Amino acid sequence: MRLTRLFTLASAVLALLVCGMLGRLLWGEWEHYRAAGTGHHTLQLMQRAMVAAEKLSYERGPVNAVLGDHLPADPARHARLLRARADTDLALAQLRQDLAADAGPATALAPLYDALGAARLTVDQLAALPPAERTPERLDAAIERMFQLVPLALNAVTSYTRASEQVYPRIARILMKARLTVELREFAGRLGSALTVPLAAPRPLTEADHQRLQFLRGRIEQLRQLIKIPSSDIDSEPRVLAAVARMDEVYFAAGQRLVAEVEQASRAGRAYGMDTGQFAQRYVPCMAPILALRDVLLQEAQTQALQDYEAARHELVLALLVGAAILLALTLLLAIVRRRVVVPLLRATRAVVRLGNGDFSMPPSGARRDDEIGDMLRALATLRANSMDRQRLEQERVRLIEELRLRADTDYLTGILNRRAFTAAGNLRLRGARDQGESLAVILFDVDHFKSVNDSYGHDAGDQVLIRIAEVVRDSLRDGEIVARYGGEEFVVMPTYCGLEAAHALAERLREAISREPLTLSDGHILRVTASFGVAVAHGPHAALDDLFHAADLALYRAKRNGRNRVEQQA
Ligand code: GH3
Ligand code: MG
Ligand code: MG
Repeated sequence: MRLTRLFTLASAVLALLVCGMLGRLLWGEWEHYRAAGTGHHTLQLMQRAMVAAEKLSYERGPVNAVLGDHLPADPARHARLLRARADTDLALAQLRQDLAADAGPATALAPLYDALGAARLTVDQLAALPPAERTPERLDAAIERMFQLVPLALNAVTSYTRASEQVYPRIARILMKARLTVELREFAGRLGSALTVPLAAPRPLTEADHQRLQFLRGRIEQLRQLIKIPSSDIDSEPRVLAAVARMDEVYFAAGQRLVAEVEQASRAGRAYGMDTGQFAQRYVPCMAPILALRDVLLQEAQTQALQDYEAARHELVLALLVGAAILLALTLLLAIVRRRVVVPLLRATRAVVRLGNGDFSMPPSGARRDDEIGDMLRALATLRANSMDRQRLEQERVRLIEELRLRADTDYLTGILNRRAFTAAGNLRLRGARDQGESLAVILFDVDHFKSVNDSYGHDAGDQVLIRIAEVVRDSLRDGEIVARYGGEEFVVMPTYCGLEAAHALAERLREAISREPLTLSDGHILRVTASFGVAVAHGPHAALDDLFHAADLALYRAKRNGRNRVEQQA
């Protein structure tokens, strides 16, 4: 797999894994935050249900007063009952309204509404009867119906309490205590109601009344102990301590004393000195601190729930920020790795491939970096420079070899072919001549009295004369006609394939050219030299170069002998 592809794939897998992990983390935080929000609302519902339960408890007070009233009815007592009912209805309406806007636990409140309507009807019917017809049984039945309402409301309280506890386990104990205070208020109310019938009659308390009072007091004491058991930090909160102390002082001292007074009057056979309404007026306010304690506990629960909610929100924001930072860091890291490692590596690879192919045109870029990639690129640059040097040396070697080859073929002084190269070329031509059935001629010439040039003007002047003669002859020749230095002051010319006559004419032309040419020496002297020529021709399948040269040499010898500066051809 290509490196770029592998890198892209690895980046994608890494990004996917990180996104997955972050997504899961964020989802968890979001769920927590959402649950905390919902829990907050459930807590409110619980509070509303508690208030509704309290109002239902409270409504029994005015009911007792109205039922214990004489005819004509006291409008003030009736008005109090109507106010209490309005309060209950308002609390229930608020609960219903909050429930409508809620996605939390739905508790069927219909049984409560039905029971409430029926209980109120019973109360109204009984209150409309003359007091004599309000028999204890009927009164008990009406009050019992009112009693049965509160447990129905407490069902809703229990359901919301559980839901809240699930979201805020931290405040479970506070909520339990708040619920206990609601129950305590209910039983305190029942304790007061237990005296309604004897006070309304009025009649002494029966043994059953005493037992009932005893039972209720036992339950109330039990609830009080449960509320006071230290169970969390909240119990040491000054506000809570103060509310508990006030409950002890007002309800458990003054309230219970009032009940005890009625009991003692009954036992002593004394008049109670108050009717139901008057009792309620003194007793009901004593229960207020119980509700105050409930409210303090609920307030603490709300505060802690709000703290939890805020903490959840804070965690969510933090998780979001951390997530964004991780993603940013990952992107940066991948970009840096791509820019600083992958891309330079690819460039370096291409550069190596180019070097391998002998292409040194582009130097590898980025060699100024001070990291490992920079080291590699610098090494590549060195490799490129070395390779270029090697290439230059190779070219130089080839040039030198060519030069050597040329030197081996040329005469060092005159620059024309030497005898060795001429012999090779001559053999080739001879083969060609044999193949094509052509004749091959050779012209041999020797400078006349050259020794005396050396002797008179020096060896260097002799060299110059030889160089000039080579130039003159070369300039006089046409394409295909070759000249070489045969040795000393002897030269040889090979015309293209031609017969003896044409070769003779060429030799004559060269002789004239040499004799005509004034040779100016470096010291200003002007010399004229001549040369003697021997011409020979070879023909046929048995022609040999040695024979040809030998024949030309014989002719040259004759030219010398016959007076020099002349051309002789083979006999
Ligand atoms: P002839 O007309 O009979 O050929 O007389 P010659 O003097 O030319 O002949 P000889 O063979 O006596 O002398 C040839 C001389 O050429 C001898 C030698 O010193 C000279 N010579 C041969 N090669 C060179 C050379 O490369 N440079 C110079 N300056 N002289 C050379
Ligand atoms: Mg000679
Ligand atoms: Mg000579």
